[in-house]
Amino acid sequence: MSRSKTLYQLQIFDSGIDQAIKRIQAIELILSDTKEFDIALKNKEEHNNILDEKRKALKSTEHNVEDQNRKIAQNQNKLYGGAVTNPKDLEDLQLESVSLHKYVSVLEERQLEAMFESDQALEIFNQSSARLEEITVRKQIESATLSTEIIYLESTISTLQEDRSTLLTGTDLLELPIYEALRKSSGGIAVTLMINSSCSSCGSNIPSAIEQEARSPTKLSFCPACKRILYPGSS
Ligand SMILES: [Zn+2]
Repeated sequence: MSRSKTLYQLQIFDSGIDQAIKRIQAIELILSDTKEFDIALKNKEEHNNILDEKRKALKSTEHNVEDQNRKIAQNQNKLYGGAVTNPKDLEDLQLESVSLHKYVSVLEERQLEAMFESDQALEIFNQSSARLEEITVRKQIESATLSTEIIYLESTISTLQEDRSTLLTGTDLLELPIYEALRKSSGGIAVTLMINSSCSSCGSNIPSAIEQEARSPTKLSFCPACKRILYPGSS
């Protein structure tokens, strides 16, 4: 194997490892992002509180109507029960009856409004519950899929690492420090393909003398522009 071919092979393993690590980091970011769920949970809690309040308010209006009806019943008993005979007292009871009936219709109207508001609050609460449920299920599926992907990526990394060390064990690779330094300075890509006399990383034309050198099994040559090691794709 030519020197550049060995380095190119090493580059393929390292790029594969880099990509897998990058993807794992991206997945971890996705998995740790609970913003959508948190907002939906907060909404559901808020709507539950509102629903509780509206139901309490409804109960209170129901009690008010019941109280008023009790007062009316008492008044009607006195008025028609025969125990009160004094005309002045009967007239007072009659006036009270009119006033009690008037007020009970106000209270019944309030009860109707409270029922309407309580129904509305229940509908909103049901919607936010359904939304939370939908997010929870979706996140569970997403999390299971991504966790499986992480397991696959981790096994890819360890296979590539094994391949990498096998390659290095069988080769006396003197250029490894150059390769490592180039990886650091050139965004992880130290060895690049030379295709149709140009560098596939930066697109520069490669002069024919350098191209000849790149094709030699014993020499290493570098792109004059981006300084990466050139590997002739066709040979
Ligand atoms: Zn280049």
